[in-house]
Amino acid sequence: MDRRISGSTQLLGLIGDPVVHSLSPAMHNAALAAMGEDYCYVPFPVAAERLAVAVAGLAAIGVRGFNVTIPHKQAILPLLSQVEARAAKVGAVNTVYALPEGGWGGTNTDIDGFVQPLLGLEKGIPTLILGCGGAARAAIQGCLELELGPVRVAGRSPEKLQALQQTWPQVETLSWAELDRHLPETSLVVNTTPVGMYKPGSPAELSPLSREQLRLLPAGAVVYDLIYVPDPTPLLRMAAALGHTPISGLEMLIHQGAKALSLWLGGKPVPVEVMRQAARQQLAQIEADRARDPKPQLSSQS
Ligand code: NAP
Repeated sequence: MDRRISGSTQLLGLIGDPVVHSLSPAMHNAALAAMGEDYCYVPFPVAAERLAVAVAGLAAIGVRGFNVTIPHKQAILPLLSQVEARAAKVGAVNTVYALPEGGWGGTNTDIDGFVQPLLGLEKGIPTLILGCGGAARAAIQGCLELELGPVRVAGRSPEKLQALQQTWPQVETLSWAELDRHLPETSLVVNTTPVGMYKPGSPAELSPLSREQLRLLPAGAVVYDLIYVPDPTPLLRMAAALGHTPISGLEMLIHQGAKALSLWLGGKPVPVEVMRQAARQQLAQIEADRARDPKPQLSSQS
């Protein structure tokens, strides 16, 4: 890879806390190199209390655009001059771009990334979303844009479920205890909880649904886990063993990145396969480092 940083190289980046294990720099820089674009993508660790000054600083040094990850996806909204309607509805921005007139515009390519692996599904299929946090909001918006439904959301916080219904009145909400009754009529399950994500010291085989619950799904059901560390997760391994169709959260990550990069480059098509290979390679490296030293915490949202 022959890439030189020069005075004309343009900057893209990522802000979050932590960003140290993000897959985005590997993914974006591989695509930029393959495209021969004179850009460089850099991760910037930004603490919550430094967000406003960091965003002003990025504008001052002429950064063209940046991704936003935990803990800034909601907090960034008041710092933007424009927010796309669907990002405002979801209440989170993960991609920011410099506006020609100055200031920043914000959008949510997590929705596009979420939707991409589901594009071949039939409309109107019963869908169940597990969890009701930030990622669930992007997933609900995506499912409704695909005209899937009924869309049911199971969560453990009645307040958060109520807030979801205020934004999307067509969504049905369930308590965790009501899940089993709905599984036999569910064609798509989406896990948006962090249950099953690698964490140092936590049990390796956690899953938001048990094998018995997965058995209740109809034949040919699709099981989509937004987690991708480990890849596959225990949920996806069990689902595949039972003959269901697994989808890894890595696809969402790759496609949200591809959509963001294309936006920053004025709508140019980007090499998704190059991004996928770079993300997989980086993930394998992180897994190998982890096997040697299980202490580092993995960020799995960027
Ligand atoms: P979040 O806002 O904290 O939401 C997590 C949700 O999971 C909350 O509703 C929480 O319930 C629920 N939950 C947590 N532990 C649970 C448990 N033991 N049993 C039942 N419910 C539980 O987090 P987020 O930002 O939505 O992220 C969620 C997951 O999605 C993370 O693993 C993240 O890595 C992944 N993600 C992946 C991508 C991607 O590109 N693939 C993008 C975004 C997020 P309470 O509200 O009651 O705590």
